Amino acid sequence: MNAADSESLARRLLAAGYVEDSLERADVAILNTCVVRQASEDRVYSKLHELKEWKTPERTIAVTGCIVAKEGETLQRRFPHLDAVVPIGDYEPFVADLEARYDYSLGEPLPQSGRTGVSHYIRVIEGCDHNCTFCIVPKVRGREKHVPMASVLDECRRAVGDGAKEIVLLGQNVDDYHDPDGRGGLASLVREVERIPGLKRLRFMTSHPQDLESELLEVMAASDVVCRELQLPIQSGDDTVLKRMARGYQTRHYRAIVERARNLMPDLGLVTDVIVGFPGESEAAFMNTRALMEEIEFDVVHLAMYSPRGGTFSADRMHDDVPHQEKLRRLNDLLALQREIAARKTARWIGRDVEVLIEGRDELNRPYGRIRQGKRAIVLRAGDIAAGQVLNIRVLQATAGQLLGLPAA
Ligand code: SF4
Repeated sequence: MNAADSESLARRLLAAGYVEDSLERADVAILNTCVVRQASEDRVYSKLHELKEWKTPERTIAVTGCIVAKEGETLQRRFPHLDAVVPIGDYEPFVADLEARYDYSLGEPLPQSGRTGVSHYIRVIEGCDHNCTFCIVPKVRGREKHVPMASVLDECRRAVGDGAKEIVLLGQNVDDYHDPDGRGGLASLVREVERIPGLKRLRFMTSHPQDLESELLEVMAASDVVCRELQLPIQSGDDTVLKRMARGYQTRHYRAIVERARNLMPDLGLVTDVIVGFPGESEAAFMNTRALMEEIEFDVVHLAMYSPRGGTFSADRMHDDVPHQEKLRRLNDLLALQREIAARKTARWIGRDVEVLIEGRDELNRPYGRIRQGKRAIVLRAGDIAAGQVLNIRVLQATAGQLLGLPAA
């Protein structure tokens, strides 16, 4: 979501004649912030302290993102060198202020932006109506607001017309999307977007086990454009912990979704999130999570150690009773387990032909991109292939993180 917000603000500024540059040469520094964890919020404050040195009367410092919803105007009292506090998505007044402030005449052609434009992120739903007890999102992003399908489709067509090959539909809980004008939910939106001529791939994230509908899985399975990847956070493999997290489902529901999805798409890439050390997580509860990870064999698990986030129900009303050392032990145990699982699963790709959408070149100048199941792939001996092209490769090597292959004959 933050990447999409940054893109959206950057596009607006590029359209107004601004260009991206190094901090040393720039007139304006904008921090787009995340506060999902205390550590992210602390990084914003430390960056703001650092920028004190950089600030001059001619330069502008602005902050946008979730910290604005959380801290609001207090930020400017705390950091008097901060010029602007910009609410998420409400960029026009800020851009107008900048235009009034920097009255440059742009006589030379503008340098091109460094963006490849291969993937275009579109926010279709903002905020969240769930109230997971550990999560700050509903507080900072508010209740769900759904973007009309007609606007989403217009933006998708424009992006594809401008050269995007992949569209990524975003929402904190994207499965809950519905068109405010009554044209249907996420499955209907996906069906409409995938028909846009020239579009090669369509992704959506993040799903919620309580809201994901079977119809969406059927649309995915039937499509050559929709990617075979689900980002479906489980958070815990123990029903008592899930209840305390107020996730609204049990592990048997989650298993049923995975079974249905894999029946329809045996090669589905499955990504999840897991928190260890949530208040009240006993050793037995932790072992349930471990067993579930072994059973389901996710492709990627984003693992986090629970830390109380001020302003959430779990921080304010639950006792953080798992000692730090024990959380760390559980985290390391699951990291090691997942490394093994990911290596085992990735090795299954060796010898297979897969389709790669090229996104750019790595530090060794080798083209890289992602396969439809979400895994990163590097192409060896690919010649002049450019970002945005799609190519079939035969996988020669696989590590937990990526595949390496040659163009298929
Ligand atoms: S569904 Fe996701 S965004 Fe919404 S409250 Fe739960 S964790 Fe936060």
